Amino acid sequence: MPIRLETPVATLAEPIHAWRTWTLVGSRDGSQVRLAPIAGDGRPWPPRRPAEASCTRNRSHVRPELECTCGLHAVESPHELRRTRDPAVLGTVALWGRIVEHEHGFRAALAYPQRLRLLCYLCFTLWGRNGPGDCEVVVRHRGGRMVPLCGPHLELSRRYGYHLARILSARTIESELLATYAVDPLRELFAANGWTAEPVSA
Ligand SMILES: [Zn+2]
Ligand SMILES: [Zn+2]
Repeated sequence: MPIRLETPVATLAEPIHAWRTWTLVGSRDGSQVRLAPIAGDGRPWPPRRPAEASCTRNRSHVRPELECTCGLHAVESPHELRRTRDPAVLGTVALWGRIVEHEHGFRAALAYPQRLRLLCYLCFTLWGRNGPGDCEVVVRHRGGRMVPLCGPHLELSRRYGYHLARILSARTIESELLATYAVDPLRELFAANGWTAEPVSA
C-alpha cells in the first residue's frame, strides 16, 4: 500500500514506516556498532532515542525544509534503494514529526530504525530474484567503517587482493547492532512478504 501524505509537508504524531539504508561504524573489537547516514552530516544515529534531522546548508531553518534536501531520508520501497552508494545495512524505519514528501520518498524530522539486516553491497547492487544474500563477515576498515560481505564476495575480494583490514563475524556484528538499537531482525519480514525482485537490467 503506497503511503501518501495529504500535503507535501505534514506534521505526524503517529509514525509512518518506510525503508532506508545506512553505513555502519564500530570499534576494532566489533563493539560500539552504530548506524550512520550515507549522506548528510554523517553523525551516527543514537541508540534508544530518535535521530533528529540536521541541516548542513542552513542551521536556522525548520528541518526538514520543503525547499532544501535536509531531513532523515527514507523511501516507500526497498527497490528504490538499490542505487545507494555502499550501503551496509537495510531496514525499515519509523518517521514522525515534520515530514516532507517528494517524488523519491520522505524527509523527516525524527526517525528510529524498526527492523534491520546487514547487507553485502555487491549483492545489493546486483540484486536478483532471491533478494540480497546472507552476510558472512564484516570487514572493519581503519577509521571505523564496517563493510558486510557475503561468502562469495569475500572470496572475490580476497582473489582481487583487496586489503581486508580486520574481519569480524557478521552474526556477531548483527546481534550487536540489534541489541544496541533494541530492534528485531529484518529476515522475518522478508519471508512474510514473499520477497522477490526482478534483476536490474544493465
Ligand atoms: Zn535544510
Ligand atoms: Zn555478496
